[in-house]
Amino acid sequence: MSDVRAVHGGFGPRQPLPVRVEPLIGESTGSFVNRLAHGQGLHLDELLTRVGFGQASRDVQRVRAYPQITEMYVNRLGLEYLATLSGLSVQALRDALPSLEQRHLLPEGEEAVWKWPWTLREGHLVPLCSGCELSLGVAETAWMISPGRWRMCVRHLEWTDDSRGSGSAAVSLERVPETVPAWHQGESLRQQFGDAGGQLFADAFQVAVYWWTHLPDTERWVQRAWSAGLEARNARAAPVVVLPEAARLAQRMVDFEQLGEQDCSAREKWLAGVQRDMAVWDVDAWVGRQPLLAWLQRHHDRSARSGSLGSSRTEQPVGGLRLPGGHKQNAQLVRPLGEFSCLPWQLGQPACSM
Ligand SMILES: [Zn+2]
Repeated sequence: MSDVRAVHGGFGPRQPLPVRVEPLIGESTGSFVNRLAHGQGLHLDELLTRVGFGQASRDVQRVRAYPQITEMYVNRLGLEYLATLSGLSVQALRDALPSLEQRHLLPEGEEAVWKWPWTLREGHLVPLCSGCELSLGVAETAWMISPGRWRMCVRHLEWTDDSRGSGSAAVSLERVPETVPAWHQGESLRQQFGDAGGQLFADAFQVAVYWWTHLPDTERWVQRAWSAGLEARNARAAPVVVLPEAARLAQRMVDFEQLGEQDCSAREKWLAGVQRDMAVWDVDAWVGRQPLLAWLQRHHDRSARSGSLGSSRTEQPVGGLRLPGGHKQNAQLVRPLGEFSCLPWQLGQPACSM
């Protein structure tokens, strides 16, 4: 994609654009610049041309699609240009736009650089929920930098993802009523057990992803996908449809972690309990066991436990849990849910390679 550079070196913009546009917290820089252009009554390519990043206008259609397919990155001077144009301080921009963090800045040079590479350096471009847009007074789609491929707004009951295919970009969660309480259960585990709660929820989600990948025709998931207006066998549907079972399983995993004994018979007893759930859900027992065994193998050995997850000195959570290594910490919320898990597979991977 174009590597546009300012043509007039040291002669950057001196004045803010006439109409001020506020960046949203977590918005992509490209989305903000696009809205900044529209605020002035300009298309993105027209703004880029006026600011001196003029070559961009060679392929107008593509440039206008940039904010939904790629992110804009800048060098230090490019950041100063953007601050001047938007009438905001560099710090105010950085507080809102994640891609302006120091580690994402392009190499310094004599010239200001605004660059739109093909791939994002970090995260995914996911539209902001339409209810949030409305309440923030944003009149067009705003693209957010999301750690995962999807976002769920439990306030406006809307789910959005980075899919650019046909079909609706947003899903109303009112059509899949079990999903929102499941999300709240995940939040409550995080509140109760800190990082460890979030990691167990991620483990449960990963197990459910494994189940879905091997058994996509499971009736309750197909039904939910249809209710949501999603294709049942499209990986896009998986997070929406498996969340209720993942939440239930996460609670089972917490129960296991709280057991005094995790010996062979305790593990068998626990597995039998989950298998009763699976029978209710119509998840095939033999397939369903595999990821659970993988999880148990990682979690049953107390002596392998390290760190003090969920037992930090400052906020001692109720029933603090110690999980084995292999879980990423939540300190930087820049990873998708699955990556907090100790289970290695990815949603979208073929069943045979899990
Ligand atoms: Zn919302």
